[in-house]
Amino acid sequence: MTLLVQKFGGTSLGSIERIKAVAQKIKTSKDQGNDLVIVVSAMGHTTDELTKLASEITIHPPHREMDMLLSTGEQVSIALLTMALNELGTPAISLTGTQAGIITESAHGRARIIEIRTERINNLLDQGKTLVIAGFQGTSLGIGGIPEITTLGRGGSDTSAVALAASLEAEKCEIYTDVPGVLTTDPRIVKNAQLMKSISCDEMLELASLGAAVLHPRAVEIARNFGVTLVVKSSWENLDGTTLTSKKNNVFSKGGIEHRSPVDGLELVENQAVVALSNIPDRPGIAAELFESLSKGGVNVDLIIQATHQVNSNDITFTVAENELNNVHNQCEKLINNIGGEISSNKNLTKLSIYGAGIMGRPGIASSLFQTLSDSGINIRLIATSEVKVSCVIDSESGKKALRNVGEIFKLNNKQITLNPIIENNNEPEVRGIALDKDQIQVSVKNIPDKPGTASTICSTLAEKNISLDTIVQSERNHQDKTKDISFTLKKNDRTEAKYALEELISKWKGAKLEEGNSIVRISAVGSGMPFTKGTAGKIFRALANKKINIEMIATSEIRTTCIISERYGEEALNEIHSCFNLGKCE
Ligand code: ASP
Ligand code: MG
Repeated sequence: MTLLVQKFGGTSLGSIERIKAVAQKIKTSKDQGNDLVIVVSAMGHTTDELTKLASEITIHPPHREMDMLLSTGEQVSIALLTMALNELGTPAISLTGTQAGIITESAHGRARIIEIRTERINNLLDQGKTLVIAGFQGTSLGIGGIPEITTLGRGGSDTSAVALAASLEAEKCEIYTDVPGVLTTDPRIVKNAQLMKSISCDEMLELASLGAAVLHPRAVEIARNFGVTLVVKSSWENLDGTTLTSKKNNVFSKGGIEHRSPVDGLELVENQAVVALSNIPDRPGIAAELFESLSKGGVNVDLIIQATHQVNSNDITFTVAENELNNVHNQCEKLINNIGGEISSNKNLTKLSIYGAGIMGRPGIASSLFQTLSDSGINIRLIATSEVKVSCVIDSESGKKALRNVGEIFKLNNKQITLNPIIENNNEPEVRGIALDKDQIQVSVKNIPDKPGTASTICSTLAEKNISLDTIVQSERNHQDKTKDISFTLKKNDRTEAKYALEELISKWKGAKLEEGNSIVRISAVGSGMPFTKGTAGKIFRALANKKINIEMIATSEIRTTCIISERYGEEALNEIHSCFNLGKCE
């Protein structure tokens, strides 16, 4: 028998008719010979309605009582769906999170799953029962062992489902929802957005704002870490949906489902060179011209960073393999002769990266990486951050020391540390999907001291307030007084708190100032094939240049290229980039 975990969301269970229709669907699957564990959300908007009830009594409901209240939503669904199944002649039994053995930490309202004690589930499955389990909830062991009902955070029933699939070693986890799967971009903005057949968990995490609309990111994180095959598909149409893939043998210790170390790898790539173009004109088309000509010359560019412009000029910095440097330098010189600006380049650099699904949403990770480097007296030449990876370019001679110290801080063993990894072309597309994130603001801290530790101080100041910096760009250019600038984007919600914290910090640095940029959006193109394809960045920049859209900031990571542009061009840019990679469906 094949064991499947199937999760049905709130909309799919919005009424008694729908619950009956879902029961019919489950029965069909059971009759095909599958063992089934069903995970459900609360009916329709129940969770919102319950939250509203609480807010009519108090603006500060105790977290424990909120969990007590919200967990009732799922309890209604499990009971009704189980009745409907039994009515159809499919023997079923409902279980709350506690009864199903879902053990969480005790943080009410945002508890992470520690383990699932699967004994009872397995016994019931052996008896031929279909299990209907309440998503979104679990039980803490509590102080002194007193169990308390906990919830995982809004949208958490996806996470319950994938955690169950991982613990039960199910064949796959199917998430039934009201959309057909994961689309190449936001279909409300791009009319011909297309359903993806498959996407890797890493790509899904990098497409954060696009992916989160479909699946709880913590669910993707678990699927990635435990190698669960995850399928997102429509509850009503009988279509294949989108399959999320993760690397085989990616199974790590099962000590804690969501309690593994957030960082699971460290790598060092030696023989890197950095090329910095400064004072080049700030107008649409410059980045496109540069990276198109490099890709024509056969150069594969790795990280690209463009800092905010200072009075009509830009700095663009990028990395290439050291043996490409002469070639690249010549090409850049030709360009500079035409457009103006200066060029400088350095060899003997090394790229150090930490990676892991747990980096996302945990701002303390990047900051402790920067802190460790600065404590080791290592200057960070370039920073590239993504949802699942943080990279720093540093001097070669510091490489080994950095590897040792960073490995120690994140408690990584030898198997998790790689020196000059050989990456094989996986023939995946260079761009799989594109996300438009309208929820960001751009902030620059100007005239800060250029010495080890500055970036880390800024990040840790924000990390202490649990604020993540999304796109960090450290300008290469020094001001006359030897200071430099750092720019980043952060969530609109964090604006006030971030400003408050940063202002206090920079008051210690003479002459430093904080600036908020114009309204921006962040467009990210993501694809696992990107590192193996020359010219992806050039194509993206050309698409923007064709529409005369100026790029305010560029930040890339291995499988992602992100451009920050003015808010008013966001939707036009999304359409243009989407079509330049032929991602749309043919009409
Ligand atoms: N009912 C919960 C919520 O609305 C959990 C879920 O639907 O995933 O957040
Ligand atoms: Mg949901």
